[in-house]
Amino acid sequence: MVKLAEWQGKSVFRKYGIPLPRGEVARSADEAESLVRSGRVPLPCVVKAQVLAGGRGKGGAVRFANTPEEARAAATAILGLEFKGENVREVLLEEKLAIGRELYLSLTLDRTQRLPLLIVSAHGGVEIESVADTEIDRQTVDPFPGLTNFEKRRVTKVFGLSGGPARSLDKLLDGLWQVFQGEDAELVEINPLATVGDGLVALDAKVVIEDDAAFRHPEYAEVRDDRTELEEIAREKDIAFVQLEGNIGVIANGAGLTMATLDVLKELGGAPGVFLDLGGTDDPKKVTEAFLLMARARPASVFLNIFGGVTRCDTVATGLVEAMRQVPPSEKFPLIARIRGNNEKEGIEILRSAGVTSVSDLRASAQAAVDAARGRS
Ligand code: ADP
Ligand code: MG
Repeated sequence: MVKLAEWQGKSVFRKYGIPLPRGEVARSADEAESLVRSGRVPLPCVVKAQVLAGGRGKGGAVRFANTPEEARAAATAILGLEFKGENVREVLLEEKLAIGRELYLSLTLDRTQRLPLLIVSAHGGVEIESVADTEIDRQTVDPFPGLTNFEKRRVTKVFGLSGGPARSLDKLLDGLWQVFQGEDAELVEINPLATVGDGLVALDAKVVIEDDAAFRHPEYAEVRDDRTELEEIAREKDIAFVQLEGNIGVIANGAGLTMATLDVLKELGGAPGVFLDLGGTDDPKKVTEAFLLMARARPASVFLNIFGGVTRCDTVATGLVEAMRQVPPSEKFPLIARIRGNNEKEGIEILRSAGVTSVSDLRASAQAAVDAARGRS
């Protein structure tokens, strides 16, 4: 997923004529102060952390300033934050507008109905998850005509707008639709969309570009995302590898078995910390590479749960034994294996020769992985 930071989302909005506050990005307190002193950002202003997580307003990552000194102090405070696990490296400074009402507006995909979904609420400025369902209006949109007057009128009504703001809503919705279509977005969210004087202004921007369309948008190639260093390496090697919070490593094949394995470990009180899906690989070298990557994540124990199909048990075992030879002693971990299916006997034999026993019962093997991890942390 390519998630754009607020300022990047806003520069996309600008391209499509969605009204925005005046603003500039700063990467240091000096820069923040001089943006204000030079008048490029008018006072009073807002200083906002550019992180991907939401809830910045509540979390002290959005501050207001009336003087260049205050803007500097706000930038210093925010640039020093670690906000929900992200280090803040950039702040957006923008003019502070006199807000009337705060509204919620987004376009996303309804994957069940296979249609774009327009979500609106008169209660904006808070996380949409905390808004009562009865206060949220959802309508699917036929992608061919796009947003028609019918959908737009319904939004106007839900927002309870008339006069100037109602008129500017019409154009804004066209812009929102064009962002969604033109940029291949899977989510475009404005929260809050604020009434300011006689018009509407997008005070926040969340834009997520559909991964499968990334090839059409080389301009987003450099956009930082939330992959970890190891996940990035895995991606380059085309290995499905995800890091989580816990300490048990999981190696399985196929999304279904991988997810089920995570569930079983959780149920037994374990905490999966990284998982790796060997998928339909039948190349022992690939298995070795995947294992070495797993070792670098420093799991307390590793649970290997393979159902041999296209990925044959002996392929996995061969790759695994080779990897175990290469893992530096400092990165060694207890390995609990369960391999079943295609070429199971051969696989088990190869593992045995390397001192690894395969436990065929799922619960027993998962329990052993949980116990081994507990013993080490
Ligand atoms: P988050 O969604 O991460 O909390 P927002 O960008 O939505 O961050 O900002 C939080 C709140 O700060 C908004 O709901 C709004 O009340 C206020 N705010 C943000 N930008 C401005 C602005 N330019 N002028 C005035 N108020 C703002
Ligand atoms: Mg917001």
